[in-house]
Amino acid sequence: MKRKILVIGLDGATWDILHPLMESGDLPLFAKLVCGGCSGVLKSTVPALTPPGWTSAFTGVNPGKHNVYDFFSLDKVTMKQRLATSRDRRYPAFWEAASREGARVGLFNVPCAYPADKVDGFMVTGMATPEGSRDFGYPGEAALLIKEKFPGYRFGARASLLESGRKSDFLKDIYRVTDTQEKAALELLKRNDVDLFLFVYDETDRVMHFFWHDFDPSHPAHEKGGEFRNAVRDYYRRVEEGVERFISAMGGDVDLVVFSDHGFGPLETDIHVNRLLYEWGFLAVKPVAEEMIKKPLWKWALKRIVPPGARKVFREKVRPSPLADPLGYIDFEKSRAFYASVSGRSIYVPDKDDRERTISELVSRLEGFVDGRSGRNPFAKVFRKEEIYAGPFLENAPDLVIQEDGRFAFKVEWSGSVSSEATQHGCLKSGSHRPEGMFLLNGPSFRENRKMESAGVCDIAPTLLAMMGLPVGAEMDGRPLSWAFKEYRDTGAREYSGLRIDVEEGPLGDDAQVREKLKSLGYM
Ligand SMILES: [Zn+2]
Repeated sequence: MKRKILVIGLDGATWDILHPLMESGDLPLFAKLVCGGCSGVLKSTVPALTPPGWTSAFTGVNPGKHNVYDFFSLDKVTMKQRLATSRDRRYPAFWEAASREGARVGLFNVPCAYPADKVDGFMVTGMATPEGSRDFGYPGEAALLIKEKFPGYRFGARASLLESGRKSDFLKDIYRVTDTQEKAALELLKRNDVDLFLFVYDETDRVMHFFWHDFDPSHPAHEKGGEFRNAVRDYYRRVEEGVERFISAMGGDVDLVVFSDHGFGPLETDIHVNRLLYEWGFLAVKPVAEEMIKKPLWKWALKRIVPPGARKVFREKVRPSPLADPLGYIDFEKSRAFYASVSGRSIYVPDKDDRERTISELVSRLEGFVDGRSGRNPFAKVFRKEEIYAGPFLENAPDLVIQEDGRFAFKVEWSGSVSSEATQHGCLKSGSHRPEGMFLLNGPSFRENRKMESAGVCDIAPTLLAMMGLPVGAEMDGRPLSWAFKEYRDTGAREYSGLRIDVEEGPLGDDAQVREKLKSLGYM
């Protein structure tokens, strides 16, 4: 009998949290799995961001080949941002390759993968799926089962709870969402016999974004003995319980892969990149920008007078239109460079006279900048796109990509100052991404007690295909982690890029709805 494969994705998981919790006895299963398996740091994409990170892990290729750089892509004609969906992914994910090669797969809560792909098995999408959408499940029966058996099923906890200062209710909601997602996944797993099953825990990311300072004494906002001091620990423990549940649901004797899309660490300061570009003379703004800083009356009214249900309508219909567009304050005609990303690290330099000079001047100014609030340089490294990406979709990449110093987050909103305390939803945001994610391989096929330093997210897809005995993608940038296998067998390579030729490119669904969704996830 062929061995079953269980893949667990943990958004943002880091050894910096796992190791101490394993040592203190809080994560006995993880301690056992690490000891009995192979593990190490998994390097994320540049930037260390959820959409390119997961997409590179699922496809085995760099963003220049899969075309997903951020939650949104910028339409360079209209200068509007459009949600990136699975239709923008131009290289097939490992599940498409596996389905083609005759393996059955089950995939649940897959981030940045809406709408669901047609697979041999089942697929339910996760993060960045609009609430209330239909094509989040394949086949249709999977979506139907979830709608009927789990009414009120959601793709993420309610950030509105953070906005109204109800942190403990927000935490409870995270558990509620996790419980429901696990139950629904186990239900589908019971009804479908699959060779490989993937489940992604994505709330790890938000627990670390908002509760990092509660446990980390090195964070300036840390208070000893605070109410939420165990929030991060407890959620990791909850995740471990879930992993145990999935292992036994698959019959115990599985080959297990656990990995994250990026790591995590403390966050202190927000940098308003466009304010900086404006002060340096690269960016020009419209008169409406001033209005944005003044926190106009409608914003005040929205929070206090308009009932929560009507806020969305108010925001879209009543709010002056230039303000409804996150980039609405930028005068593109007069700007030589602008930052345009809700949570990515993207700077665009339009094709104008002296573009090359603008780029070199900008890179050296950013790399030499010292932020007055923190006394540090937020821009550890600024890359030109061709330095970090290669492939047929390079032209869609932002011109410059910032590798940040971890204690900083970058904001696209217009602001009166370059830096301020990091916040989101009017709430302190104390944790943020790091390039160093984690991976762990354990099971009958793998060696025991091995550590490895140099693995990257692109190695995940080819490793999973090799585990299934299937050819890896000839175009893949990653390689199977062959050193980890007891007996590694070269499965050859095949060109998979043709698998996505029929997939329609371009916009899909209701952008406003997805924007709302991403806002609730803390990305806007
Ligand atoms: Zn992530």
